[in-house]
Amino acid sequence: MERRSDGRERSAGKGRQWLSLVFLACCLFGTGVNISAAIAVAPIGVECPEIVHIGEPFRVRVRLPGVPAPETLRVVWLGISLDVELRCRGGDCEGEILLGTEVGKTKPGTQTLRLIADVGGEKIAMQRKIAVRAKHYPETRLSLPEKMVTPPKDVLERIAREREQVLKARNTFTARRYWALPLQRPVPGVVTSPYGGRRILNDKPRAPHGGVDFRAASGTPVKAAVEGVVVLTGEHYYAGKSVYIDSGNGMISLYMHLSEIAVKEGDLVRRGQVLGKSGMTGRATGPHLHFGLCLGGQLVDPQPLFDER
Ligand SMILES: [Zn+2]
Repeated sequence: MERRSDGRERSAGKGRQWLSLVFLACCLFGTGVNISAAIAVAPIGVECPEIVHIGEPFRVRVRLPGVPAPETLRVVWLGISLDVELRCRGGDCEGEILLGTEVGKTKPGTQTLRLIADVGGEKIAMQRKIAVRAKHYPETRLSLPEKMVTPPKDVLERIAREREQVLKARNTFTARRYWALPLQRPVPGVVTSPYGGRRILNDKPRAPHGGVDFRAASGTPVKAAVEGVVVLTGEHYYAGKSVYIDSGNGMISLYMHLSEIAVKEGDLVRRGQVLGKSGMTGRATGPHLHFGLCLGGQLVDPQPLFDER
């Protein structure tokens, strides 16, 4: 396999042609076909849902029994290739990853989850079909100062530059796993605006809400929901002062509209560590914390993953 700069992958080398042939057979004959027959190891055990709803995160568990430590386990979902850390004990290796689909971006239908393990230089691969179902999210109407809904021309370049930085941070794919469930609520306040709400700003439809808004008076300490490495901090036009944390396997958490940032890029932060203070910087009608969770490039609803709902 070769990994391309956009995170997608393609097969390479004549020695791997059997893999492509069996993938073709899987496409022709249906779901979840184990194609490990070419090498003498036990098949991959995969636990994943058969049906998921748009916006909801889901967990995939992978078990490789009776094998030496594989060099890699790669998961391909929605065109993105993610390396997953495997933890091996007593000759068995296990890995898990959280994946999801993004409201407003993913369409209902059937998607293929692919898993490829490298065991002693040989590839074991497997795939599962997952039905992605629609989910209804309520509509939210907001009134904001017109200049925040339709930004003035002189900030368009800044917005484009910041969008690039944010996309790069959200598409940080590292194999090392820092994350563990449940996530910690970053502030104690209630959720004032849930994930997925279709937003009508000053009567103009905009992208659905990609995260969760928590009530938080200005100056409330904002805590990391999950351990990880700070990959971006900045003061952005829309998001205000914000922090992005990479927790591995494609999990990025984001914290927006802060009044103060207490960490810097490269810092390893523990779950519950204070990242800064809440505020209303950027496009905000009042003080609150916007918390987002990105899994493999998809902004998902983080609420099912908190230790209390
Ligand atoms: Zn928000």
